[in-house]
Amino acid sequence: MRTRQEKLDYLKEYRNKYSKRISLQKKQWYQKNATRQKEKMRKNYEDNKQAYIDRARLWALKNPDKVKQLKQNWQLNNKEYLKEWKKQNPNWEKEWRINNVDKTRQYSRQSRIKRRLLLKNVASESYTLEQIFIRDEGMCMLCFTPVIIDIDEIKYRPSIDHVIPLSKGGDDTLKNVQLAHFGCNSRKGNRI
Ligand SMILES: [Zn+2]
Repeated sequence: MRTRQEKLDYLKEYRNKYSKRISLQKKQWYQKNATRQKEKMRKNYEDNKQAYIDRARLWALKNPDKVKQLKQNWQLNNKEYLKEWKKQNPNWEKEWRINNVDKTRQYSRQSRIKRRLLLKNVASESYTLEQIFIRDEGMCMLCFTPVIIDIDEIKYRPSIDHVIPLSKGGDDTLKNVQLAHFGCNSRKGNRI
């Protein structure tokens, strides 16, 4: 009969001798079972897809703040991916607007209201795009190349730029407006 200590020593020796084989076997077992587990979860999802989607939608409706936070986190963590995706889907904004008519209406209504409030406190006179177009000789005053009226690409179309933005105390007068490409204008934003 071996003593307890002898048994322990034997076990230790065995483990040392075959440590590589043992760890490989362990690894393989984990891998096999992880795949099996994943497969099970995937099948469960496929079988109950609608229920999963419904539950997620319900959760999103109940937790709008958390959804917003998650979206922001995702965008922060996937900046490069987003950039690449936008490059490959240049029309995504247009398509989104077509697919989300109600939201688009709501957003433009909100920005109209904001603008009206802004204009209330500002000196203004009436003018037309045509007037400005003629005065500025059809040139974008931000990049000094011609503005194009009949073009599909919205960024080359004419828009009215406030030299000093309304939000920075500029007036809504002929003197403070100039012709600009839509693209140049939105890139300028509310900077001076
Ligand atoms: Zn321009």
